[in-house]
Amino acid sequence: TLTQKSAVVTGSTSGIGLAIARALAREGANVVLNGFGQPDEIERERAGIESEFGVKALYSAADMSKPEAIAGMIAEAEAAFGAVDVLVNNAGIQFVSAIEDFPVEKWDQIIAINLSSAFHAMRAAIPGMKKRGWGRIINTASAHSLVASPFKSAYVSAKHGIAGLTKTAALELATHKITVNCISPGYVWTPLVEKQIPDTMKARGLTKEQVIHDVLLAAQPTKEFVTVDQVAAIAVFLCSDAASQITGTNLSVDGGWTAA
Ligand code: NAD
Repeated sequence: TLTQKSAVVTGSTSGIGLAIARALAREGANVVLNGFGQPDEIERERAGIESEFGVKALYSAADMSKPEAIAGMIAEAEAAFGAVDVLVNNAGIQFVSAIEDFPVEKWDQIIAINLSSAFHAMRAAIPGMKKRGWGRIINTASAHSLVASPFKSAYVSAKHGIAGLTKTAALELATHKITVNCISPGYVWTPLVEKQIPDTMKARGLTKEQVIHDVLLAAQPTKEFVTVDQVAAIAVFLCSDAASQITGTNLSVDGGWTAA
């Protein structure tokens, strides 16, 4: 149980992050939601978490491509809840294009949001975790932290980077009762996956059905999408005492993708 604990989950207005935030709140943690979206929908989620789980929930609009905004979000969480015990670096975007056509600003944005934001958030949250002698840092990586796919150069680079950052931080924090791990999902049915279908159709000259079956699920031996709740359950487990000796790992939940 995470009663008396507080969590920040970046990119939690949608998809995997929202499922993780809700699962941590279900365990009793206060949570900071973060990400973009319709203000009224975000407020409905925030208020819903408070009433459903009896915890406090805050919303931070911090842009994960902005280092000062990230530090500000962690400071705001510590001021409101007294601590950030659990940090989930989950915000991420995708862009699909051949390297020679890849917009330079998209490369910079993906490295900033999918990789550097985790560094900035960890940098801000680690001092408090060390002081209290307990912490859990969970990074949402991807099967693309272990293997590549064509036309996803920035994403694959950022995700391989997050796997390395995870291992480095785990070693630095190993004697402080702070574990650092990443979770590497295969294809999870979320808006991120849905939105890349048109670009993949264009890049590969395929229909929507061909992209789903011949590109996405082609990589996943189970031929099923991972669910957001399956990813969230792993995050909850990593916060438990049973997982206190699990650090520096990259946990795959990918239907066998990276076994192939
Ligand atoms: P999603 O699009 O549903 O959610 C992404 C979240 O990040 C949203 O809340 C969005 O508002 C937020 N976000 C985007 N840019 C931001 C920014 N600049 N600042 C703050 N928040 C920002 O996507 P998802 O599929 O739930 O992805 C979540 C994470 O899981 C990402 O890191 C993604 O790479 C990873 N992942 C997803 C899949 C998948 O198949 N969906 C597979 C492996 C890994």
